[in-house]
Amino acid sequence: MDREQELSAGLETVRAQVATECRAAGRDPAEVTLVVVTKTYPADDLRLLAGLGVRDVGESRDQEASAKAGQLADLDLTFHFIGRLQSNKARHVAQYARVVHSLDRSSLVSPLDRGAGEAGHRVQCFLQYSLDGDSSRGGALAADVPALADAVAAAEHLDLAGLMAVAPVTWDPERAFSELLAASAHLQKQHPEAACISGGMSGDFVQALRHGATHLRVGSAVLGQRPPLG
Ligand SMILES: *Cc1c(COP(=O)(O)O)cnc(C)c1O
Repeated sequence: MDREQELSAGLETVRAQVATECRAAGRDPAEVTLVVVTKTYPADDLRLLAGLGVRDVGESRDQEASAKAGQLADLDLTFHFIGRLQSNKARHVAQYARVVHSLDRSSLVSPLDRGAGEAGHRVQCFLQYSLDGDSSRGGALAADVPALADAVAAAEHLDLAGLMAVAPVTWDPERAFSELLAASAHLQKQHPEAACISGGMSGDFVQALRHGATHLRVGSAVLGQRPPLG
């Protein structure tokens, strides 16, 4: 198998699982955005994926992501930034990423807003939510979500998309995504527009779909196992 066939097979498997799960849940697969997480993989893979109909790609490091976005500017790709966001990188990230999944503190709002304004586009922002309350691994605490949501909603060039979470490794994913769904419902009382849920990776996207995820971030199930990050 060449690389294109490999990617095509991975993609077809994931798309079929998404379709099956949506049918079972009475949901329309068209309302689910599959973000293919391409971090650590070369720009050539993104080009092949684009040829296979992928429009949404996820990256987690600013330098790598911006290099790929620059090289692939001829393609119709939407870059999603899903990694830990450093304050000094936020402005730059908002210049090429149209969706940010990892906004977890208020100090990121104004640099993101400035970067989006400079690029002349709007950036959709997910608030990353800490399910286990251990914010050292990223994610805002429940108590901090309302003020963060207000700050994003008030920013000139940002749109509040909803909540994002990573299921804690020791948790049953069913519990993780049902708690995320509850937190999302709570947020929507205050901000009805924030109706998206970014949840689910290669190992748990089926459970995330059962609990209302609208955005899946799937890497290794499509591209293969990444070497451990150094
Ligand atoms: C790497 C990453 C993913 C994709 O993980 P896979 O297990 O390869 O699907 C999803 N979300 C975040 C935040 C990641 O860092």
